[in-house]
Amino acid sequence: APAQIAVTGLATMGRNLARNLARNGFRVAVHNRSQAKTDALIAEFADEGDFTPAADLPALVAALESPRKVIIMVKAGAPTDAVIDELVPLLDEGDIVVDAGNAHFADTRRRENALREKGLHFVGAGVSGGEEGALLGPSIMPGGSPEAYAALEPMLTKIAAHVGDEACCSHVGPDGAGHFVKMLHNGIEYADMQLIAEAYDLLRRVLGLKPAELAEVFRTWNSGDLESFLIEITAEVLDQVDESSGGPFVDVVLDQAEQKGTGRWTVQSALDLGIPVSGMAEAVFARSLSGDVQRRTAASGVLPGPEDVPSDVDRDKFIDDVRHALYASKLVAYAQGFDAIRAASDEYEWNIDLGEVSKLWRAGCIIRASFLDRIKEAYDRDADLPSLLVDDYFKNAVGEAQDSWRRVVATAATVGVPAPGFSAALSYYDGLRAERLPASLIQGLRDLFGAHTYRRIDRDGSFHLEWAGDRKEHQTD
Ligand code: NDP
Repeated sequence: APAQIAVTGLATMGRNLARNLARNGFRVAVHNRSQAKTDALIAEFADEGDFTPAADLPALVAALESPRKVIIMVKAGAPTDAVIDELVPLLDEGDIVVDAGNAHFADTRRRENALREKGLHFVGAGVSGGEEGALLGPSIMPGGSPEAYAALEPMLTKIAAHVGDEACCSHVGPDGAGHFVKMLHNGIEYADMQLIAEAYDLLRRVLGLKPAELAEVFRTWNSGDLESFLIEITAEVLDQVDESSGGPFVDVVLDQAEQKGTGRWTVQSALDLGIPVSGMAEAVFARSLSGDVQRRTAASGVLPGPEDVPSDVDRDKFIDDVRHALYASKLVAYAQGFDAIRAASDEYEWNIDLGEVSKLWRAGCIIRASFLDRIKEAYDRDADLPSLLVDDYFKNAVGEAQDSWRRVVATAATVGVPAPGFSAALSYYDGLRAERLPASLIQGLRDLFGAHTYRRIDRDGSFHLEWAGDRKEHQTD
């Protein structure tokens, strides 16, 4: 029988995705630009299911039943366009091309538009979970036409991660919606990891705890509100002993974080949408700072820090404070992330169901966490929630955490340990809840130097003051 689906691009992700499909009983045609990867897949895993190896794209397409479904899993950017360009002339109307790589959502919009004009479906599917997720069940965030999703649904939901009977895969929305949501997932992942790193740093430097002791702290946290994959693996990394030095693994790793760019994309997109995503932005900046060796070397040991570091910090109380600060800051990061998704959904008319998005992330992906159920419940209570933070659960959670959170940010500042994630989140929270912001002064300044006008609290219209003249107010519209 002809293959039901094809995968082209058999590096780490594509190969595991193809195996996942085959293990779930689907007939999969497989192809890779350089034949060696195809041969290796067949040599090692042919017994896992029904694979049809193809030497080139025409052979891949010829192996498929109609309408054809081809998953592209190659390097994002120009390589994806190259594969699409080669594939499209081989396809017939109604065929479905899925890009499961980490495409920028704007590229997905462009590609979807181009293929739609040719009568083809283009599905931009965000896939999260790394190598293991691709094989055992990733979180899948597909964007594209409802018809295309309907045709793919039986296969995608079968290979996706599950929570009980529910698959972590559902139609996110048209064109770039899936890749946008995947991008936000990665942005939240950046924020989450930065917050975890700050918690670790503070506990270590303020309390002098050893990595193995810190691993225990994180393990304990993983049984409460913070339960998540990232907290779980934090304990694992902190527990690891380096073979060659015999010391903690975390101490021999160079402290320069790398980034492939999805965090930056998230922040750039949020800036364009006018949504503050300070948690993610601080995470991206912190990685940039960590990698800025030249400037760090010039400043380290040169710029003065605080002289007196408090030595009387209560161990258990501080650990608990940091736990609260981490949770509250994390809630802020998620609230900001969902604000960005809502703004993009409005801007591009994607009509994204935010509660559904939180369900997609409950398993399979890197930010999987039990607390995502709380987000789903919040949007079930009110689908138009202006911010997750005003939902009762979130409001109460942050309310309970806030004294601790403030103490931690204050301690970080006093001791001189950088906590950009914790403090930016707290500032955002205080900004959000403020009755009045000093933006009134900013508007005054803008009017003085640039006649940019201001609005008044007591009357409609725009106004300008003759600053250089009689200081009389004029209404400008
Ligand atoms: P890579 O991103 O390393 O890409 C390698 C694959 O792309 C190979 O199959 C390679 O073929 C193919 N390729 C590169 N250039 C071209 C080209 N011009 N024409 C045709 N094929 C080309 O592979 P990964 O498996 O790591 O990732 C695949 C996609 O999934 C990427 O978009 C990535 O961002 C995304 N992703 C990755 C995750 C991960 O954890 N790695 C997680 C989630 C998504 P060849 O063998 O011939 O060189």
